Amino acid sequence: MEAKKSIRLLITRQIDLHSPSYEEEFIIPYRPNMNIISALMEIRKNPVNAKGEKTTAVVWESVCLEEVCGSCSMIINGKPRQACSTLIDKLEQPIRLEPLKTFPVIRDLMVDRERIFEALKKVRAWIPIDGTYDLGAGPRMPEKTRQWAYELSKCMTCGCCLEACPNVNQKSSFIGPAPLSQVRLFNTHPTGAMNKEERLAAIMGTGGITACGNSQNCVEVCPKGIPLTTSIAALNRETTLQSFRNFFGS
Ligand code: SF4
Repeated sequence: MEAKKSIRLLITRQIDLHSPSYEEEFIIPYRPNMNIISALMEIRKNPVNAKGEKTTAVVWESVCLEEVCGSCSMIINGKPRQACSTLIDKLEQPIRLEPLKTFPVIRDLMVDRERIFEALKKVRAWIPIDGTYDLGAGPRMPEKTRQWAYELSKCMTCGCCLEACPNVNQKSSFIGPAPLSQVRLFNTHPTGAMNKEERLAAIMGTGGITACGNSQNCVEVCPKGIPLTTSIAALNRETTLQSFRNFFGS
């Protein structure tokens, strides 16, 4: 009789931010077309480790399950990616799951991505409009610009680009690639451009664009294929021009 197929997972676990991490192995039954989330759900159904010991269910974060919310980011076989869109059939076993290292661990595979949201606030990644009355139709964008701006708008704040960037870490205040790219997105919009100078000022200070070391890892890992390095290059030009404008007071 053919032996039943199984999936071997090595999961880095941690009770909270201040506890030491440890590895726990799980062996679960194989089903075709499983993703990492369904494997984690299988463990949650019956939290028994590979030694046959009863343990606690592994904690992770997920919401949309269709690679839109960005919350299930984790390191899978050494690469930061989304657990929902990573299929077991395409991975080598044993499958190693670790939390992102750039962000503080809340528990097991769940991390606190507040850093990226704070950076979005710092760069004012929105268009401030008064919603108390009808402003009428906004200005139109040329179709060509709209098309590439749409690509930038696909960012789901998953944090994979920050994880891959060697200049984003606990000791640095670098805001990272995703918030920079959002500056380019909102500065491109005809209404958003009204606050262009504020956004450029935000990235010209500490932790801004000059902290980028041009390693180009970010663009390699972005699950949405966002042209992050192109955005950073464009912003380098914009901030240089802005510093001339500041100097000459124009
Ligand atoms: Fe994730 Fe890409 Fe946005 Fe970075 S730019 S947070 S990798 S979607």
